[in-house]
Amino acid sequence: MPTTSRPVLRFAPSPNGPLHLGHALSALTGWAWAQRLGGRFLVRIEDIDPERSSEAHIEGIFRDLAWLGVPWEEPVLRQSQHLDRYEAAADRLAGLGLLYPCFASRREIAEASAAEGAPRDPDGAPLYPGLHRAMPAEEVAARRRRGEPHVMRLDMKRALAIAAERLDGAPLDFVELDEEGAAQRILCDPARWGDVVIQRKDVPTSYHLSVVVDDACQGITHVTRGCDLYAATDIHRLLQVLLDLPEPLYAHHRLIVDEAGRKLAKSARDTSLAELRAAGATPADIRRMIGLL
Ligand code: GLU
Repeated sequence: MPTTSRPVLRFAPSPNGPLHLGHALSALTGWAWAQRLGGRFLVRIEDIDPERSSEAHIEGIFRDLAWLGVPWEEPVLRQSQHLDRYEAAADRLAGLGLLYPCFASRREIAEASAAEGAPRDPDGAPLYPGLHRAMPAEEVAARRRRGEPHVMRLDMKRALAIAAERLDGAPLDFVELDEEGAAQRILCDPARWGDVVIQRKDVPTSYHLSVVVDDACQGITHVTRGCDLYAATDIHRLLQVLLDLPEPLYAHHRLIVDEAGRKLAKSARDTSLAELRAAGATPADIRRMIGLL
């Protein structure tokens, strides 16, 4: 638990590829906020994906941050070392009757949602059509006995009902700060995400669960991150209410896009900081390229 009332901010990259210009903007924006607020700045390695995370990428993150001139506090939290913490949080949600196993494959879900007119979530993925929400207990037990892989999903309808009870008439919302620090309350609508995955097939957690648990554990007061996660904040606020976690302030920043207007991908080597550095770019060049100078 934090013993200080100083603001705490973080940069939370997933080590699934080399850092690129988008990450540079994220790290430098978070660090600038920390300096402005007189706050602490932490780095969190979001390495819950065993297939895609690598030590080489983690080392690359520290090299790139040091080169950019972004300092961070030790120790650095690595999510892969805290799976028990996320499992405990999932158990709490399960204890509220909010989780159910879903054995459906991606293909089954895509097919089922296409047949229903394909409603989509804010990221454009087909909304989970509730396939296994009401699976009889005997079938769940039989499939589990056979060791069928499954995710654990949040029963969104029930989750909203419990959150509404907890909020006792207050709206589910979050505070978004603009670049000048002016605050605006944003109403949440987590239902548009449907029954989100809380625990994946391969790990007993998910991005959404880990991020709210760790933001609370690390005492994060201001979440600065790209606006591609703006809509997901609705899910994070819902989970914070359900798990009795404190509410941080949010500041979502613009994204760096390629010529086609798309968000930079981890695979886009030409914008990786390591490649740019090898080609002779300086940290000041990077700041110029992302519009900070
Ligand atoms: N790990 C996420 C990413 O690299 C960022 C998560 C967050 O800042 O909440 O996109």
